[in-house]
Amino acid sequence: MRLYVHIDMDCFYAAVEERENPSLKGRPIAVGGTSRRSVLCTANYEARKYGCRSAMPTYKAFQQCPNLEVLPVRFELYQEVSQQIYKILKRHTNLIETLSLDEAYLDLGPYHDKGAKIAETIRYQIFDELNLDASAGIAPNKMLAKIASDWNKPNGQFEIKPDQIESFMKTLPVSCLHGVGKKTQEQLNQLNIITCGDLQAFSTFDLVKQFGKWGAKLHELCRGIDIREIQPFRVRKSISKEVTFPHDIEKPEDLLPTLEQMKGEIQALLNHEYQDRSIKSLVIKLTFADFTHTTAEVSQTHQSSQTYKTLLNKAWLRGNQQPIRLFGIGVKLHEKKENHQLSLF
Ligand SMILES: [Mg+2]
Repeated sequence: MRLYVHIDMDCFYAAVEERENPSLKGRPIAVGGTSRRSVLCTANYEARKYGCRSAMPTYKAFQQCPNLEVLPVRFELYQEVSQQIYKILKRHTNLIETLSLDEAYLDLGPYHDKGAKIAETIRYQIFDELNLDASAGIAPNKMLAKIASDWNKPNGQFEIKPDQIESFMKTLPVSCLHGVGKKTQEQLNQLNIITCGDLQAFSTFDLVKQFGKWGAKLHELCRGIDIREIQPFRVRKSISKEVTFPHDIEKPEDLLPTLEQMKGEIQALLNHEYQDRSIKSLVIKLTFADFTHTTAEVSQTHQSSQTYKTLLNKAWLRGNQQPIRLFGIGVKLHEKKENHQLSLF
């Protein structure tokens, strides 16, 4: 079982516009197309009070709320802010799946009970550094984390712990399930299935008969089971540290304390952020006094001072024993997680 956090920015585009122009605060605004035929991307909470929603045609939004101010979409600005949010998320894990500019799943590793605290920290950092509100959901799988982030929106968070899943699911409306759209919801409601508890009364056989393959999925989802993993936007291929010295270093032996320090930093990263990744090889990088550089690499599954030293000597001899300007060490990682258990409970 793993720990997931779903981060969802509140009214993201509108919130960014309010931040850029504080006089918009407290007024009903939306971001979207301004011509009659276009639609809204986001409405702030003042506009939502009038029923304005994302994907609503702009003319309809004006009918609901004549005072609505519709601002043109500034995609580049939102993208820039989104990247800043991503950087904050990256401080907490490398396993991030971005769903859109304002939404992401974080995999915080094997399940532990610090999820709510971490989510609080992330939301605080986003507010403190970017002046924007976010909501968060904390749970042992992606579907539940996403449902939870909606629970105390805006500017709130909610956690579903493993031992709370059963009772939580009993009363959860089926419409909250991942993949249950309007059509499935209507079909289910016609069968008097309103909550996931109602749905749990049906066997896989019954549900497959009624819904085909999707029925088997429903049988899992209504019990809060979701085995989808994070699909990281970018998977890190290596971890490295390097240092450029103010004065060139004459001999490899003089690099050994630096080597030990950098090795320790890499090990800390491996232990805390990349527990799921395995080492493919060790690498040494040197830049010499004449600015030429070289790297030496060897396949190995763990960090070893001895191996680094051997690589260092090899690289140093290649540079004709010149003084060293820059020294770097690193590990290359296997792309795939190894021996990662998928079991939920
Ligand atoms: Mg959002």
